Amino acid sequence: MDAGLKRELEEKALSGERLSREDGIALYETDDLAWLGGLAHEVRTRKNGDVVYFNVNRHLNMTNVCTASCAYCSFQRKPGEKDAYTMRIEEAVRLAHAMEGDGLTELHIVNGLHPTLPWRYYPRSLRALKEALPEQVSLKAFTATEIHHFESISGLSASEILDELIDAGLESLTGGGAEIFDEEVRSQIVDHRTHWEDWSRIHRLAHSKGLKTPCTMLYGHIEERRHRVDHVLRLRELQDETGGFQVFIPLRYQHDFVDMRDGKIRNRLQAGTTMASGAEALRTFAVSRLLFDNIPHVKVFWVMHGVGTAQLALQHGADDMDGSVVEYKITHDADNFGTPDKLTRDDLLELIRDAGFRPVERNTRYEVLREYEGPDPARRDQPQPMRA
Ligand code: SF4
Repeated sequence: MDAGLKRELEEKALSGERLSREDGIALYETDDLAWLGGLAHEVRTRKNGDVVYFNVNRHLNMTNVCTASCAYCSFQRKPGEKDAYTMRIEEAVRLAHAMEGDGLTELHIVNGLHPTLPWRYYPRSLRALKEALPEQVSLKAFTATEIHHFESISGLSASEILDELIDAGLESLTGGGAEIFDEEVRSQIVDHRTHWEDWSRIHRLAHSKGLKTPCTMLYGHIEERRHRVDHVLRLRELQDETGGFQVFIPLRYQHDFVDMRDGKIRNRLQAGTTMASGAEALRTFAVSRLLFDNIPHVKVFWVMHGVGTAQLALQHGADDMDGSVVEYKITHDADNFGTPDKLTRDDLLELIRDAGFRPVERNTRYEVLREYEGPDPARRDQPQPMRA
């Protein structure tokens, strides 16, 4: 990228002028990652100051049985398959209770598209969880794909479904099911029938009922950078209309995932793909932050990026970190690549501070629950190792 274009993009981004599709593509193509990251960091700092948000959440998957077979998915099982499971509502409640310690404030619930579970199972589960868990635990549940599935199994409209789920305790949808909206790419990786038209219809409806939702993008598989730009611009346009997205979450496609339980590779894209490099991940965070002039937060999910890249993402536009936080941990569970699946609160606070930010614990609605001290100057005197 020549110096003139750099200056032009810089002026646009810093004056708040909206960046175009061409600008987004040009930003992806720069070799100057430090410049790109610095620009995104400036914009992120103007929006969110020196704060990095985190929340204490746990994931609950009530069934992994799914009628679809998305090419990248390692989670789904077919009925009768070894490891296929569906929880009874009491089981889900028992499991949620076990997760309650550690100051839990959010339960994140997503499931497979089960072929025979009745629609009633879902609002009943939410109601039972809401009654059983402490007041401060918010239920963030279901992808737009699941809501679309509920329409077909219940005969109800998405509006009626959302009303019933909200009445049962739903506080936010999850952002899943978005993957990449480009139809051609999508047709090669997504096996369910919820595409942009229905995904956007359902989030629009949720926003009209007062719910705030996240939005996501699965990147680093067979898509090209221009598909990422187009994906973000579709979401930006919808955000102009509803204002209901709180956060954008780039999800790094996991090429190497081997199911530890049976050693199987279920990802059918594996032979033809690699995974986004750390630099490509940082570029994706930075360009997304610069294009999304209307979404307040960008979140990095450290489980998918590794703690090192996640920490750097905070300097490339991200202001929010996601992943399980526990108070104490006896062992550090890690995958084959050394990425832990849980961090203690102290690990996470140090990770944020060592990147130069001030940690703030939030709830699902981004209300501040607890503020912490910023970077510790004494720690600067020595190298800063990760305890995880
Ligand atoms: S809908 Fe696709 S991504 Fe979701 S569980 Fe089923 S196969 Fe996996």
